[in-house]
Amino acid sequence: MTPTHEDLFAAAGLVIAGGVNSPVRAWKSVGGIPIFASHAKGSRIYDSTGKEYIDYVLSWGPMILGHAHPDVIAALCQAAQKGTSFGAPTDAETQMAQLICETIPSIQRIRMTSSGTEAAMTAVRLARGYTGRNLIIKFDGCYHGHADSLLIKAGSGVTTLGIPGSPGIPEELAGLTLSLPYNDPGALEKAIERYGNQLAAVIVEPVAGNMGVVMPQEGFLKKLRELTAENGTVLIFDEVITGFRFSFGGYQNLIGIEPDLTCLGKIIGGGLPVGALGGKKEIMERLAPTGDVYQAGTLSGNPLAMSAGIATLNILKSKADSYQSQSHLADVLCREMKKLFSGHGIATCINRIFSMFTVFFQEGPVNDLNAALKSDTGLYARYFHGMLENGIWLAPSQFEAGFLSFAHTADDVDRTLDACSKTLRDL
Ligand SMILES: *Cc1c(COP(=O)(O)O)cnc(C)c1O
Repeated sequence: MTPTHEDLFAAAGLVIAGGVNSPVRAWKSVGGIPIFASHAKGSRIYDSTGKEYIDYVLSWGPMILGHAHPDVIAALCQAAQKGTSFGAPTDAETQMAQLICETIPSIQRIRMTSSGTEAAMTAVRLARGYTGRNLIIKFDGCYHGHADSLLIKAGSGVTTLGIPGSPGIPEELAGLTLSLPYNDPGALEKAIERYGNQLAAVIVEPVAGNMGVVMPQEGFLKKLRELTAENGTVLIFDEVITGFRFSFGGYQNLIGIEPDLTCLGKIIGGGLPVGALGGKKEIMERLAPTGDVYQAGTLSGNPLAMSAGIATLNILKSKADSYQSQSHLADVLCREMKKLFSGHGIATCINRIFSMFTVFFQEGPVNDLNAALKSDTGLYARYFHGMLENGIWLAPSQFEAGFLSFAHTADDVDRTLDACSKTLRDL
């Protein structure tokens, strides 16, 4: 007897807090019982009852090559044979660092971590240690992992200091984080005028992916770079999603803007737990042991994570033209979906950049968190469940990014559009 998802979730709830190890997996914002995954291959993911889905979540971004790529699995098996952790330096860590430093010029030195959260947390500590200042600026709707200083709810306007985004974060700490509207250089200018000599860092997702996909508007990131440079404030690009997502490199390579520090994660781990912080040598060398800013990790640079990451990056490097075909497929998917929605009188705003997209259920435009929040989340929930029924695995929240992998085909896109038609007929 195959247990149902209800059985599995009930069993999980008896021993795991909330039944899940990361909250969004519990489907709170779309309702229903979460589906348990069993295995995945290429563009397909299978649930514990054996049902197949075309996967547009891709583990929230890392699986750009598709699931269980044979070269990645082979590299992992080979590494595992030699031992899974040493707590001593390995040459694989240097190879990983070389691949990244050669590709993203602003990264002169790097430090591996086991998650994006750690990378962003370290970036903030390092910026504070380096500048001797305490305030940081982030942007409403940008997510940088769940470290205390970065889990701050949107403050309104430049004069409002942050309030904690969760119980357990002291107000005294939250008060050191200002949250400004995304795509609003004026608000940033005012904040820098007011708090300039206390500002350690500005951290930003150069393309936002955690309020749904929101693109930086013309001039926004350039202005950020200019203002932070003038003010001696460390500019941190959080490229945990965008790193190696659009081309072999960071989003910064495409726009020609160099931040002082860059956070990476997701894709560079090839599906294993990874993060990385890199940047200017002068700043990075303030980290212990050369410097006085402490950071560490028992499993940082773990040999399994390095082997999956190196294998993934090498494949991306050798197949760099696949980025274009992947982007083309995503374009077809989004354009045809838009027509289907319009045909059913449903207003949507589809934000897409290369292989990353969000269908917002509203007229749009969506250029910041306030606009994103105008979406019809009830309609999204019904759409999500309909698509799932028809074999399409989407993120269980309106405010997430969808992804295509190199393994997605034109046939996958056709099937997805068929599923979309069926879903809309029954909505
Ligand atoms: C996922 C994500 C993080 C956090 O990474 P974890 O590995 O989940 O800790 C940080 N920043 C951005 C932009 C992310 O999308």
